[in-house]
Amino acid sequence: MTDASAPITQDVLTIPRKDLQSDKINLVGLTRPQLRAALIEAGTPEKQAKMREGQIWQWVYYWGVRDFHAMTNLAKAYREMLEAKFEIRLPEVVTRQISEDGTRKYLLRIQGGHEVEAVYIPEEGRGTLCVSSQVGCTLTCSFCHTGTQKLVRNLTAGEIVGQLMLVRDDLGEWPEQNSPKNEQRLVSNVVLMGMGEPLYNFDNVRDAMKVVMDGEGLSLSRRRITLSTSGVVPEIAKTAEEIGCLLAISFHATTDEVRNKLVPINKRWNIETLLDALREYPRLSNSERITFEYVMLKDVNDTDADARRLVNLIKGIPAKINLIPFNEWPGAPYQRSDWERIERFADIIYKAGYASPIRTPRGEDIMAACGQLKSATERARKSRKEIESEAGL
Ligand code: SAH
Ligand code: SF4
Repeated sequence: MTDASAPITQDVLTIPRKDLQSDKINLVGLTRPQLRAALIEAGTPEKQAKMREGQIWQWVYYWGVRDFHAMTNLAKAYREMLEAKFEIRLPEVVTRQISEDGTRKYLLRIQGGHEVEAVYIPEEGRGTLCVSSQVGCTLTCSFCHTGTQKLVRNLTAGEIVGQLMLVRDDLGEWPEQNSPKNEQRLVSNVVLMGMGEPLYNFDNVRDAMKVVMDGEGLSLSRRRITLSTSGVVPEIAKTAEEIGCLLAISFHATTDEVRNKLVPINKRWNIETLLDALREYPRLSNSERITFEYVMLKDVNDTDADARRLVNLIKGIPAKINLIPFNEWPGAPYQRSDWERIERFADIIYKAGYASPIRTPRGEDIMAACGQLKSATERARKSRKEIESEAGL
């Protein structure tokens, strides 16, 4: 490999963020201590601050209220103060596409005019929202469409939480006053598997998940949140300790040689280093299995020997292996493995004692499937040649 320059850094090309809309403080995405501090700063007496924080929290995250005047348990003058200094702002929905299978893809505009996507996937008995953590991604996994996008910026905690809130708006999921609690949640699970590498935006992702997990508000349990990472090893223990959600790993190869090409961050933290960090995860987070994601690429990583190596590598780690048939995108340098190959691969894993579900591609007709996300306005696409040379192909 001559390609020492594959960007595996977390340095992002900074896009200036101009806020043309307002200079008010957005409450969405503030953690409880941040919210309280902001209220005190705005003149709330310290003694009242905790109570006000609780009241506002509930309006915003439990009831989904956007208008301070609707916060009827607050004095009128206080509501006016809030109105003058704060706002409750979500990313703006540019387009919403609904697939034949019910999957919904949202193109969202965030501050500064940049765009990200979120995908809602309804399933029997549950609904999963796939959220983005960055505009684009600094990593350049060679099979991933998002990785071909050149401009990158981290999303704020508010922009991450906002994705969940606006999808609840779209699905009409906020509770209604005086009506019985709806037990069946439409957005019952969150996966951090949209655009971006969540562990390169750790603080904002953690703060956003704290808001999402808070029992007085959106109230999703940490076991209903799955964070997917390409393997940012130093942040894995922190994820266990500070978020405690379920973990998925974009594994995709069973030798360093192949993984270096598919997931270039492997050149910094190789398979062995990654597996060492993963062995600690269940204990640190007190959670069950780790999901190993494995994209099936024809003649690249899909042999019987790969399947056997995979089960040997992860021995001792409570795991499930999620096989993802490769989703094609324009200019992609790979093909999906044949169906019989995927089934044979799954069978070897299953016989070794691991669950090996094959992920059915969802929303393919609207380019909403794994790895297909990329905002339509970001046209700074790399050429096929660039992608191939970065992948060492
Ligand atoms: N950056 C994080 C999370 C986003 S990617 C990560 O890499 O884990 C979510 C999942 O989709 C990852 O497992 C990723 O490897 C997979 N993926 C990316 N491109 C894909 C494609 N074209 N087909 C199928 N899966 C893909
Ligand atoms: Fe980034 Fe994940 Fe895509 Fe790799 S697979 S380029 S880490 S979004």
